[in-house]
Amino acid sequence: MVRKQALHKAGAPVDHVYFLTGGLVSITKAMADGSVIEVATVGREGLVGVGGFYGQTPATDQASVQVSGSDALRLPLAAFSAELNRYAAFYEIIRRYAFKFLEQAVQDAACTALHTVEQRLTRWLLTAHDRIGRDDLHITHDFLATVLGVRRPTVTIIAGHFQRSGLIDLRRGSLRIVNRAGLEAQCCECYLTEKGLHEPGISVAGTAKPHESRIDVLLPADAASV
Ligand SMILES: [Zn+2]
Repeated sequence: MVRKQALHKAGAPVDHVYFLTGGLVSITKAMADGSVIEVATVGREGLVGVGGFYGQTPATDQASVQVSGSDALRLPLAAFSAELNRYAAFYEIIRRYAFKFLEQAVQDAACTALHTVEQRLTRWLLTAHDRIGRDDLHITHDFLATVLGVRRPTVTIIAGHFQRSGLIDLRRGSLRIVNRAGLEAQCCECYLTEKGLHEPGISVAGTAKPHESRIDVLLPADAASV
């Protein structure tokens, strides 16, 4: 998959579900005035197109690849639904993930309303670090502005402060985590709460290495790598 690739778009049917084996997908919501904000991220812990668990309905959000090097197993929605009906263990994993995804959305809504932009950026960086699994995140200020629902200059000011504090290192188009412990120390409670929702025992694809993925075993052989 390539960066900025849309896996589904608002208003269009969700034709496939994607089980990420690496990287990060951003779920965004566009408003009538054209403003856009990220409402969730999905990495190896979950799947893109979780609405497909409830049947085929038009998407109300957009799912876009945000990190180069992202990979996934893609499954047509019809095959996904058939496997849910055929395999009780698969159904149970997806059912639990769908509920955790909802809980994550509730936590995100509270965080956006009650916590500072600095805290929200810190939480996002820590979560992305967990899901991407490397220090270089390859993300731009424009994308972080979408993540936080703020203007780009606001991101520049905050990211500059983080850099001067030795938390991150900014290079052309790339952001490197330098001091993870420092980020954890100043983050709001939402990071640990959200992390607890996706402990390995209740994840879809596992939070360790791709070869340890449980979904490789559970998915039918016709699931395609993309
Ligand atoms: Zn928070």
